[in-house]
Amino acid sequence: MQKRRHIQKKILTTFHQFGYNEIQTPIFETLELFTAKSGQAIIDELYTFQDKGQRNLALRPELTAPVMRMYVEKLQMEPKPLKLFYFGQCFRYDRPQKGRYREFFQAGCELIGTNTPEAHAELIALAYTLLKNVGLKNITLKIGNLDLVQALFKHHHISDQQKQELLPLIDKEEFDELKTYLHNTTLTEQDIDEILHLLQTTDLSTITASFKKQKELTEELQKTQHIFTLLTDAFSIPTPEFHLSIVRGLDYYQGLVFEIEAPILGAEKQLCGGGTYSLIDLFGGTPTPTAGFAIGFDRTILALEEEHYHFPESTIDLYLIPVTPKTLPNTLHLAQQIRKQGYIVDIDLLQRGIGKALKHANTKNTTYAIIIGPDELKQNVITLRNMDTGKQQSIPTKELITTLNKIIPPTKETPLH
Ligand code: AMP
Repeated sequence: MQKRRHIQKKILTTFHQFGYNEIQTPIFETLELFTAKSGQAIIDELYTFQDKGQRNLALRPELTAPVMRMYVEKLQMEPKPLKLFYFGQCFRYDRPQKGRYREFFQAGCELIGTNTPEAHAELIALAYTLLKNVGLKNITLKIGNLDLVQALFKHHHISDQQKQELLPLIDKEEFDELKTYLHNTTLTEQDIDEILHLLQTTDLSTITASFKKQKELTEELQKTQHIFTLLTDAFSIPTPEFHLSIVRGLDYYQGLVFEIEAPILGAEKQLCGGGTYSLIDLFGGTPTPTAGFAIGFDRTILALEEEHYHFPESTIDLYLIPVTPKTLPNTLHLAQQIRKQGYIVDIDLLQRGIGKALKHANTKNTTYAIIIGPDELKQNVITLRNMDTGKQQSIPTKELITTLNKIIPPTKETPLH
């Protein structure tokens, strides 16, 4: 938890830095909330149950639908754009493996009320910055566009049925299987080559050139180009790649989609998925443009471990040692006084003698120990020991806080009252 909380804190701070406010929704929702969004097939992937009132409920598999429900019920009148972030656990009836769990955490956000290229560029930059800020060295940002994928399908007269069969292959980048599939359709060799080429290129200008003739796509192509320019120039993201093969849940995403991967994770390398979608009208709200993303928190920790990220050790500011049982009450009182100043303080509660207590202090990673024996008590002083150098000094108890303020900067945690 020490590792996880350290990374979680960084994620929450970055969301705040981008102007997002936290939202929390219940762990379970009505089953219908998820089937409305993703169809009946989703039930196989859910933990579902009936409560005592025979209501069909489900543990949430993700937070976008719950947040959209809450928005429609409670937040529609809030000033736009509304920037909401969440951090919470999700449940999926998956076959567990490394990086794929039945209970896992997602950190994500929803941007409600704007669909400008600038807003979308900032959203993508936020996802990228979050993963960079937590300390990941090697991540890949892939951006796609579902309007272009749909146009490609339409151009080649690919039926809805065929689409349903093609999408999983595209999603998993199984291009050999895709080629075999396409060969069993009425498409010409030239068509197949074109489709495969477009699905595999990472170059936006190739895409732009190919779709240029379809006038209805001009705006979407210009917008995509603008987002790329903003990402590289305004947000200094070195190499965003365009991938037409990013298809995600085609059923409710539209236009822009993106994913961030940590190649070091191998099969389960996808850390983040997001894009633009419309769910608000589905849940009975006034249609409003929305976009968002979700980051897999557990996979982020795994990727950091694989990259040998140095997670900081747990440390304390001061370790207090009451030398005899008689000095324990005063030491407890002193510990509380020091904690009120914002310091992290632990105390030897086992009365194990100075030698052993100092050894224990070392396991707590403290730079200073305070020793309070009967003599110190009598003279109203304490002994402050620097644990690195072994140097000790006697300090009048009433000057202790002033001395501490000079030598140890208090942590930014909220002091006790
Ligand atoms: P999704 O909602 O499927 O787009 O998932 C968003 C992110 O959540 C993925 O990119 C993963 O990092 C993470 N994720 C999804 N499913 C699981 C799972 N079963 N276990 C751990 N992480 C997951």
